[in-house]
Amino acid sequence: MSYKLIDAPLLTADQIRTRVYELAQALESTTNEPLHLVAVLKGSIVFLADLIRAMRGPITLDFIAVSSYDVNVSSGAVQLLKDIDTNIKDRSVVIIEDIVDTGLTLEYIQTLLRSKKPKTLHSVCLLSKPSRRQTKVVIDHVGFEIEDHFVVGYGLDYEQQYRHLPHISVVEVTSKQ
Ligand code: 5GP
Repeated sequence: MSYKLIDAPLLTADQIRTRVYELAQALESTTNEPLHLVAVLKGSIVFLADLIRAMRGPITLDFIAVSSYDVNVSSGAVQLLKDIDTNIKDRSVVIIEDIVDTGLTLEYIQTLLRSKKPKTLHSVCLLSKPSRRQTKVVIDHVGFEIEDHFVVGYGLDYEQQYRHLPHISVVEVTSKQ
């Protein structure tokens, strides 16, 4: 495989900052109750850090980790690597996800958390690729809808690189002939 990082950002740091602030307002306007945020590791950490600093609270945090599956392997199975540490029964829970592509990961996490009987369960993602969807997963708040590009930056990686970029860029991945 070879890859090329496209120089011009798909989304600038300013665009992201404005939208994350709007998402924080939208989230908090849904309820007056304390929110328990469950962030999906690792890609959502930068989004989470900015989102919570735009919120008035009260909020609490937890983390969940699932395996990324190989899109070329048709099983599409998602595996739990780290479950949440908190009892979420009767609490207002929000899943914080970086990007929803096929929707299989978010659907898996929603099913798992719903089985723990929260009072409410909402989902927020920074990016969504609707053209790639394989499920009817419901996302309550979407930052940006994007085309079918592989993107990095603002927490998102390509082979663990580029998470530190303040903007989001496209990576063109090609198979070597
Ligand atoms: P799903 O297909 O299950 O909706 O997406 C699962 C995961 O694939 C996402 O949480 C993310 O970790 C990864 N992913 C999907 N699209 C992209 C992308 O464009 N860039 C990066 N860095 N990760 C992606």
